[in-house]
Amino acid sequence: MDILLVEDDDTIAEPLVTGLARDGFRVNRVATGTAALAADAPEFVLLDLGLPDMDGADVCRELRSRTDVPIIVITARSDEIDRVVLLELGADDYLVKPFGFRELAARIRAVARRSQPRSDAGGTIAIGALEVDRRTPGVA
Ligand code: CA
Repeated sequence: MDILLVEDDDTIAEPLVTGLARDGFRVNRVATGTAALAADAPEFVLLDLGLPDMDGADVCRELRSRTDVPIIVITARSDEIDRVVLLELGADDYLVKPFGFRELAARIRAVARRSQPRSDAGGTIAIGALEVDRRTPGVA
């Protein structure tokens, strides 16, 4: 899975990049909101709210207006109003700094699982039924 990590603070970003790579994720790390919005479409976004050039909330809103990519917001702001606003902006989850790497990895997996389409198995069955129906007149 390709993860876009948007975090301007090297002391936070570098251990995350290392840890996520060790867990098998491919990480593209950028340090600004502008770079985040210009990046190739990722499969997952980890977005710090405190960015040097833009409010992370605006980055989140803009990403969500373009794509259904799962977004986990990383925030130093912990009051509940902000959390509600984040979810309303379209974030799928959030983590409040400081957080442990294992919690982050677990949340990434949980959000990724939830965002996968559930209809794969049903679609296959429907296609199978269609094939049976088409074959039946030929046999008869
Ligand atoms: Ca920051």
